[in-house]
Amino acid sequence: MIADQLRDRIRQTGPMSIANFMTEALFDPGAGYYATKDPIGAGADFITAPEISQMFGELMGLWAAQSWMDMGRPTPFQLVELGPGRGTMMADALRAGRSVPGFVEAARVVLIEASAALKAVQAQTLGPSGAQISWVDRLEAVPSGPAIVLGNEFLDCLPVRQAIRHKGDWHERMVGLDAEEDFVFVLGPPLGVDAGLVPERLREAPEDSLVELRPGDLQVVETLATRFRDNPGRALFIDYGPELSETGDTLQAVRAHKKVPPLDQPGTADLTARVDFETLLAAARARDLAAYGPEEQGRFLLGLGLEARAAALSQAVPDKRQTLAKQVWRLTDSSQMGTLFKLACLDAAGLPAPPGFTAR
Ligand code: SAH
Repeated sequence: MIADQLRDRIRQTGPMSIANFMTEALFDPGAGYYATKDPIGAGADFITAPEISQMFGELMGLWAAQSWMDMGRPTPFQLVELGPGRGTMMADALRAGRSVPGFVEAARVVLIEASAALKAVQAQTLGPSGAQISWVDRLEAVPSGPAIVLGNEFLDCLPVRQAIRHKGDWHERMVGLDAEEDFVFVLGPPLGVDAGLVPERLREAPEDSLVELRPGDLQVVETLATRFRDNPGRALFIDYGPELSETGDTLQAVRAHKKVPPLDQPGTADLTARVDFETLLAAARARDLAAYGPEEQGRFLLGLGLEARAAALSQAVPDKRQTLAKQVWRLTDSSQMGTLFKLACLDAAGLPAPPGFTAR
């Protein structure tokens, strides 16, 4: 059990950072949450936009096809997905993308997936697509050349660090053990030079404030910036989080569609934290990428024609009218995913503005 391994580690070497705890709980190859099961879907732990409606992936496919045309229809190009889950979004995207001649034929689909269980599901889902598909372990390993990169609910499960302001300094928040050997949060050492990772607008937050640091997101931005310097490309991230950096603990664990305490039974629940779009976009701009968003998911999907797509599908299958209306509502209403979920686009400077983003 991953809990026992983590307890042993803490007993031997002392408290561990939340990022390390998260990495082991989610991705330990033997016992981690993603390593061992397929957590996505109505009967599993959580559900995502592509699993709610085929229309989500279809619009992403049309977005990617338009981006491909904006890039001058490079043939071939890498169509990359980070954390494809069950492969549903890519399958729907490729089906819709067939409406643009040459797009699917030019695409070399590259999937980046940490979970062996989910890779197997992806292979099954995408088998019938007729596209060329391969897997690599990390973004850095994607073959060179023009690329379009998609990631839905990928950034939120990259490990986060947390820091607490204590006597004027930022200290790492860590995971230790209490007298009963239960996992508890403890205050660790000052961040030192890493205090520079605290978002600028939060640096002077009051005593006891908590901030989250997302080194994984910055690594992704760095890799894209390096890549897009020599190869044209565009990346689209869809995730949940505020528009501006905020203080507060957003680490959450979800099991069977319910929130559970995040340190409780590691390896048995999904662990995520809100994405900090302000820091993500600023990091991209600092590396000379063009950066767009965050755009709210509801506005974005409606802008790309979600309602017209729902109407067309309802006409084809009238029995589905109500189901489709409910899907539109779940994806776009502000009580559902419409405003909490947002999109950010990063691309090589010089391309036209990406579809779905209002100029600001
Ligand atoms: N995009 C899918 C799945 C979201 S869940 C959907 O919308 O349904 C997060 C996905 O990212 C899972 O497939 C998970 O295994 C994968 N993942 C998380 N961290 C990863 C990492 N560091 N490298 C590769 N894949 C990762």
